[in-house]
Amino acid sequence: MTDDLSRRTRLVHTGTRRSQYGEMAEAIFLTQGFAYASAEQAEARFIAAGPEEFIYARYGNPTVRMFEDRMAAVEGTEDAFATASGMAAVNGALMAMLRAGDHVVASRALFGSCLYIVEEILPRFGVQVDLVDGTDLAQWRAAVRPGTRAVFFETVSNPTLEVVDIAAVAAIAHAAGALVVADNVFATPLFTDTQALGADVVVYSTTKHVDGQGRALGGVICASRAFVRKTAEPYLKHTGGAMSPFTAWLMLKGLETLDLRVRAQTATAGRLAAALEGHPAVVRVLYPHLPSHPQHALARRQMEAGGTVFSLEVAGGKEGAFRFLNGLRIATISNNLGDSRSIVTHPATTTHQRLSEAARGALGITPGLVRFSAGLEDPDDLMADITAALALI
Ligand SMILES: *Cc1c(COP(=O)(O)O)cnc(C)c1O
Repeated sequence: MTDDLSRRTRLVHTGTRRSQYGEMAEAIFLTQGFAYASAEQAEARFIAAGPEEFIYARYGNPTVRMFEDRMAAVEGTEDAFATASGMAAVNGALMAMLRAGDHVVASRALFGSCLYIVEEILPRFGVQVDLVDGTDLAQWRAAVRPGTRAVFFETVSNPTLEVVDIAAVAAIAHAAGALVVADNVFATPLFTDTQALGADVVVYSTTKHVDGQGRALGGVICASRAFVRKTAEPYLKHTGGAMSPFTAWLMLKGLETLDLRVRAQTATAGRLAAALEGHPAVVRVLYPHLPSHPQHALARRQMEAGGTVFSLEVAGGKEGAFRFLNGLRIATISNNLGDSRSIVTHPATTTHQRLSEAARGALGITPGLVRFSAGLEDPDDLMADITAALALI
């Protein structure tokens, strides 16, 4: 499909390959490998496989390729590589490009497993990592130096929803010759055009909004064709982080409804966040498009909408938060986000439990902080549910 189509059309059609049967829904090529017509054909394919030629599902598969093409078209990059999970995408993007002696600068406010990769794994292989406050451009400027190979950050951080100025950080990184790797899960490809703002590599956990129905783990690396096929693919195809064809099919179906789901969930999140500000049992609400957000102007500039997730600090610390979580009838206590079902999470005791209390404090993850991922339920029902649960604090 060509570039002149709008994103909503690309979400439905791009990448589709029909077999000789003309099936409407994309076929699931649930096969590990592919037969060759002759020994000569096998030899030729191992020398150079064409775009419609496959060898082994760890390297590529037609259903997975459909998803990669559609994801690249949605993100606006030349190509994409699908992975078994979001973490396989983050790990693959970084490990594929880095080697001993390289220097990386990363934002401190990262998803727990992302922090583990930059703090624990990369240094084991001789990669030097400096962590900065991602919202402070002076810290990025001071940390990036000649020899910095990559900068890494979440465009909107989890769970405190800090917004990193992508264009400004990219300018600092590019001046030093570093690549910009951005995890854009919270902003989704709909609300922030991350690659247009200067990111060289954009990674997603497709477990979140792309599937959006809590069914499967997945991830994707979106970047230039050279990065995807010459840097990421050789690493990933030999280390085994491939997405399964069945998962790719689920993700293709997810993309078809992504725009509708994410916009509806975002409208609900924005409405709930605004309504909860000033509630007597709520200390603060964090949501990028609320005027009270510390980087509200940047969030308005960089994000078309505020996203499907907001965080709130309830009164009464951990006890208050637990009473609130246990009092909800509709929103489920779990740790996914971007799901069609509303999900509520207590980061301090679950996703960020591994961190010390001091480290949590530095990231603003207080005992009363609760993350709320708005689903597709009726927002009035959700508001009534939240109000009733807040009354129990
Ligand atoms: C969930 C998440 C990941 C990890 O994705 P998985 O699919 O769980 O491996 C990485 N980054 C962010 C911002 C996430 O929310």
